[in-house]
Amino acid sequence: MTKIDLETRTAELLHHFGRTLQPGDSVTPPIFPTAVFHLPGDPSTARYHYGRYHNPTWAALEDALAVLEGAECIAFPSGMAAVAAILITQARSGDRILIPADGYFTTRVLAEKFLGPLGVKVETRPTTRLLEGSFDGYRLVIAETPSNPGLEVCDIAAVSARAKLAGALFVVDNTTMTPLGQRPLELGADAVINSDTKAINGHSDALMGHVATRNAALMEHLRDWRKYSGSIPGPFECWQVFRGLETLEVRFGRMCSSASEIAGRLAEHPAVQSVRYPGLPTDPSHGIAKRQMSCYGSMLNLTLKDAVSAERFINECKLIQPSTSFGGVRTCAERRERWGDAVDPGFVRLSIGIEPLEPLWSAISATLNSFN
Ligand code: PLP
Repeated sequence: MTKIDLETRTAELLHHFGRTLQPGDSVTPPIFPTAVFHLPGDPSTARYHYGRYHNPTWAALEDALAVLEGAECIAFPSGMAAVAAILITQARSGDRILIPADGYFTTRVLAEKFLGPLGVKVETRPTTRLLEGSFDGYRLVIAETPSNPGLEVCDIAAVSARAKLAGALFVVDNTTMTPLGQRPLELGADAVINSDTKAINGHSDALMGHVATRNAALMEHLRDWRKYSGSIPGPFECWQVFRGLETLEVRFGRMCSSASEIAGRLAEHPAVQSVRYPGLPTDPSHGIAKRQMSCYGSMLNLTLKDAVSAERFINECKLIQPSTSFGGVRTCAERRERWGDAVDPGFVRLSIGIEPLEPLWSAISATLNSFN
């Protein structure tokens, strides 16, 4: 998709809800906090039946997400609920599935803890080595690129072609990039998962997730799963995420350009041992990233001397919020080793927010300078 096409989608997103309004209607989607709908007689005459089946506020969010994704979307109450929906609806007893060895750890925990005992063989492969080895015999292949937290990248189009040839369903967790930074469906993926808790909502005040796909049978399966399992988003949160989505392009643009600049400056700083950011020309993932991403994301990793330095950096920098998440308006950071990720003790995942660049860099560099 060209930059112009994507910008056209972003512009349409802001006006899409208004297209069907009647005089006097609210220009923003109303919140429908209801479990039941007025339903006399023949249910087929009513648009909405029951709160677990559908809700107009979900529909507004899903329609807006669909404009951006260029595909039908289904919202779930968190990113993990979206991951779970894919895993549970697609993997059956006896199936083999392939998930990232170095992606968001909860996806592995979920698959191993709950699908394993149901007879699904859960296998893992590192993101950068996804193409090493066959895809034969897999029912489902999931990639996460750039991965959280390592920011490793795999070639989506190449994996997609190989997975397709092997008959596997190929799903990309696009959370670190959002549909604005990377378009896995256009690179051949069957479906995309996004944790909207991150940049899409962007204000760190609601959890949400969605799946986007052009595969009608898969979408129907996911809709059934949501309806029968009750894994439904709340209407209030849908409204919050709808509002966040409207400013995604402006926020994500600022965050990615600041991240790019800060990654370059950190790479030169004497207190920093190493930096990972797909946008750095020296980064091992840069070549593929440049081909398949339209920007390089809002997250970067830096490694400091040790755990103590990393904790000092995170806790003393006055424009860093110590917290575990990313994609929000406030710059935040955490030491990922504290969760058991296979990273150095001094490894810091830094999510750049929307603070103006120079004050943010002053605060970051002042903290690093104080280490000398
Ligand atoms: N996928 C990725 C790549 C993530 O980083 C996360 C959360 O950090 C999730 C999925 C899960 O999202 P949520 O926390 O909204 O359930």
